[in-house]
Amino acid sequence: MTKNFDVIIIGAGGVGSAAAYYLAKAKQRVLLLEQFNINHQKGSSYGYSRVIRYAYDNPIYVNLMRAAYPLWFALEKEAKETLYIKTGELDFGNINAPSLQQVADSMEREKIDYENLNAAKINQRFPQFNIPETMAGIYQEDTGILKASACILTHLKLAKNYGAIIQENSPVISINSNQEIVTLKTYQETYTSQSLIIAAGSWTKQILIPLGLNLPLTIMPCQLAFFEVQNPQQFMPGEFPIFLAHFVGEYGQFPYGLPPCGHQGLKLSTFYGWDTVEAINEVNYTPSLAWIEILRTFLNQYLPTANGELIETRRCLYTMTPDKHFIIDYHPNYNNILIAAGFSGHGFKFTNLVGKILTELITERKTQYNLSLFKIKRFL
Ligand SMILES: Cc1cc2nc3c(=O)[nH]c(=O)nc-3n(C[C@H](O)[C@H](O)[C@H](O)COP(=O)(O)OP(=O)(O)OC[C@H]3O[C@@H](n4cnc5c(N)ncnc54)[C@H](O)[C@@H]3O)c2cc1C
Repeated sequence: MTKNFDVIIIGAGGVGSAAAYYLAKAKQRVLLLEQFNINHQKGSSYGYSRVIRYAYDNPIYVNLMRAAYPLWFALEKEAKETLYIKTGELDFGNINAPSLQQVADSMEREKIDYENLNAAKINQRFPQFNIPETMAGIYQEDTGILKASACILTHLKLAKNYGAIIQENSPVISINSNQEIVTLKTYQETYTSQSLIIAAGSWTKQILIPLGLNLPLTIMPCQLAFFEVQNPQQFMPGEFPIFLAHFVGEYGQFPYGLPPCGHQGLKLSTFYGWDTVEAINEVNYTPSLAWIEILRTFLNQYLPTANGELIETRRCLYTMTPDKHFIIDYHPNYNNILIAAGFSGHGFKFTNLVGKILTELITERKTQYNLSLFKIKRFL
């Protein structure tokens, strides 16, 4: 096998797999190195489902989603696979909850259609909910589910078809760069390339320290759970929307849920509010059963018929930046190293677009997309 490449990518999660696809399609000679097996459960991207939505509190993300949606549809077409399931999304919270208003404002600004619903209308349209009249919601119909693991496997399959080399169980253990050539070592081999993409999720901080960059990334191991529902038909996509509750409880911040998609029961978690750790070796992957019981208080109150048996629960990692905005930028000292990390629990829907952007930044040294929120200089 050749050991010299145009681009080497570290990490076969959502971002690295999409980058491999777009780069290989752009005729770059690509090597993708993954430390574990493909589709492992220790990082951020494994699973049945991730939410794809326009409903963001910042118009920059809404605008980027305008580009990401058609890329997912194009991928489905090229691969002849169904990767997106339309469900619609209900955001609800106290009348005048600031974050709810911000989501409405940014969709308004970006001319994305949505509906305002009072509590009575929500309960009538979605009788699975029990929303008090002190609350209100907004509904956006394009929100849906991306079949997360299937998206990654599809990007990797097509990347291979375009000539990319994908190597699992190959941790990168050292990186050296002299501006023109990057040299990487795994336990078995030494590789060189003109460019490097570090898409290493929660491992990124440690990888960058020897390259003279200490980013303020932390790791948030969050937990998700699947609950049996009383009437499964009522909770299927089409009958039951993805929801995001704009409030905080003892169970965490912003509870959200998804209808079944490749899994049984209602998927439930909270968007934020989990303790963070500094380094990957501090992560505790063991789920808390105490939290499951606390989470049931949310179900009892708002979704009483979804408070059934626990089907499955596990932990998954967010790689957090202090402002929850991504990092997509060149290394400040090496213009042949790109870093794409810190997706702060909301990156999957953008991974295809990020792969395209990284490809443009390598092949054209510029991109048409607005990356102003994602610069490294905000931390220097
Ligand atoms: C429970 C949960 C729910 C989420 N829900 C949503 C959602 O609904 N919508 C949404 O948009 N986003 C969501 N996210 C966030 C989204 O999943 C992540 O932002 C995205 O998956 C990040 O992908 P990544 O490629 O950066 O990281 P990862 O998937 O972690 O990939 C990084 C890869 O790099 C590899 N690696 C690290 N170091 C090395 C090395 N030295 N050598 C080789 N390989 C290495 C790792 O093994 C890993 O496979 C959710 C995340 C979680 C955990």
